[in-house]
This record gives sequence, structure tokens and C-alpha cells, in this order.
Amino acid sequence: MAIDPVIETGDSMPAINILDCPKKMFRWTRQQQVNGDLVGVVPTMGALHEGHLSLVEAARTRCEKVVVTIFVNPTQFGPNEDYERYPRTLQKDVGLLSDLGVDCVFAPSKEDMYPQGSSTTVAPPAVATMLEGECRPEHFGGVCTIVLKLLQIIPADLACFGQKDFQQALVIRNMVRDLNLPTEVAICPIKREPDGLAMSSRNVYLDAGERKRALSLVQALRQVPEAIGQGIKDTGLIETRMKEFLRPFVDRIDYAVVVDSETLECLEAVERTVVGLIAAYIGKTRLFDNCVVSVAGETDLLIESNH
Ligand code: AMP
Repeated sequence: MAIDPVIETGDSMPAINILDCPKKMFRWTRQQQVNGDLVGVVPTMGALHEGHLSLVEAARTRCEKVVVTIFVNPTQFGPNEDYERYPRTLQKDVGLLSDLGVDCVFAPSKEDMYPQGSSTTVAPPAVATMLEGECRPEHFGGVCTIVLKLLQIIPADLACFGQKDFQQALVIRNMVRDLNLPTEVAICPIKREPDGLAMSSRNVYLDAGERKRALSLVQALRQVPEAIGQGIKDTGLIETRMKEFLRPFVDRIDYAVVVDSETLECLEAVERTVVGLIAAYIGKTRLFDNCVVSVAGETDLLIESNH
């Protein structure tokens, strides 16, 4: 979609830059850093909601300049997934970002990011092998490749990712560490709708009945701190509870697990901080959600205080 490279945002707000050229984006980033400003980047696929905007705010608290990237990355979608159908709302996204005072939007084309003949890819770290890695074998290779490319083009001081995509955040954090990238990775909390549903660009696919059924993910996750709080340590038992809760509401469960929050490895018992992770289909829409829970049953799943 063609849009103006610079959008005026009113009297007090400086204009937002919109770039699609990787070389210009690299020069812009370096220029800010030479001027003494820290640059924060928020990679997204667009169709922005408050979850994305909370990452922008997190970047803003630490950095003088904030860049948001908008690119629906074809290489992280499987052959039968929703690449073509994925919502694309660039003009609206730019409006939201410009209202927030974002300094630059990088919205490259497919050809800008994957020029003719491009064939180099990144092999993801070990934490990519399980869960999403098993359900979607090509996914994290695509994610790592695009994030590495974006961090080459925008060698930011800070990159903000959401805990919403828990495994993705660990994969990226480990890739950045393993490849000695200079960018710090921040993992930011999940933004939820008032009733607890995790915000997602894919929620627009849900009809009214599906939207109600989608709440079962967060409700099933509630079983994890509840069980641990009751002194139940057996992860198998907690997983059974989650699945039994989900079954009447969802059309397919890809996984509903309680695993180590650093490595995502299976644990027999809750002996350190764990993460409950669910991926399930409501109709044709694949949704996922998670919560981190300490050995004492303390959790970040604070629905009431999140709106
Ligand atoms: P996406 O556009 O879905 O690729 O997401 C871009 C970034 O926004 C990723 O780091 C996501 O984890 C993050 N994100 C997506 N949904 C939420 C949410 N509900 N709360 C916070 N961050 C989110």
C-alpha cells in the first residue's frame, strides 16, 4: 500500500517518518545513535492493537527514539496458514503510531526484505524445537531469519517483544545472545481485553460465539496457579485439569502444558518457576496464551488489574 513517506501529526508533534528502504532505515538509526539518542525497536506484523502499543510505550520509557516495524513475514507462515488472509491495516496503524509520537515506521515490501535469489536463513536455538516448533516446523526459522534481518537494518539499543508469544520471545532472546547481537531484548507483559482474552491481531477472525469460547484459554490457564496454590505439584495432573477444562469449548488442542519457564523442558513436578502454555483452535482460528507461575503459585495472570 502506498502511503506518504512523512505524515504531519499536528502542531506540537514532529512528523513521523515512514521508510521502506533498508539502507535508509539503517542510516536513520545510526544517525540517531550518533546524535546520542538510544533507539528502541518494536517488530510487528501490523493490525496493531493495545498490546502492540504497550510495547511502544515500554520502548519509549527507555529510549529517546522509537521505531516500529510492520511486515507480514511470509517465511514464518506454514503452507496452510493465514498469510494471505492476515489483516493488513497500514494506514490505520501509522495513524495510531503517529498519535503515540513514534519517530519512525519501517514498512518494507516483500521484495525489500527477500530480494530475488535470497536464500540465507537462520537455524533457531534449541528452545525452538518443542511446542510451536513441533506444530509448525518452519515457523521459528522464519521468525529468527526476519528478526535477525530487522536487527541488522535497525541496530537498535533495545528491542521489545511480547510475552504473549512466550516461546518466540525466548527463541529471540537466545538467538540474540548466541549470535552476539548488540541489541538488548525486553519481554513485555500480555495486554488483555477487560474479560481476560489476550489481545491478538487474529481475534478479528472470531465470530460472537467463538469470541465467547475463546475465553476458555485464559480460564484454563487459571487452573495452573490455582492448582499450585493448593499444593498440587504434579505437572501431569495440572495439564489434565487444563485440558479437561478446555475440551468443551475448543475444536482442537495443540498443546496445554506446564513446563520450565526458561528452557520449556518438561518437568515432572513444579519445583521452580513454570509457564503454562496453551495453543488451541476455536473454529479455524488458532489462539495461544500463557501465564508464568512461581513455586508458591504467584502468577502474572492478573486479569482484574490489567484494564
Ligand atoms: P505480531 O504483530 O502478532 O507479530 O506481534 C508483534 C509483537 O507484539 C510481538 O512481540 C508480540 O508478542 C506482541 N504482542 C502481541 N499481542 C500482544 C499482547 N496482547 N500484549 C502484549 N504484546 C503483544
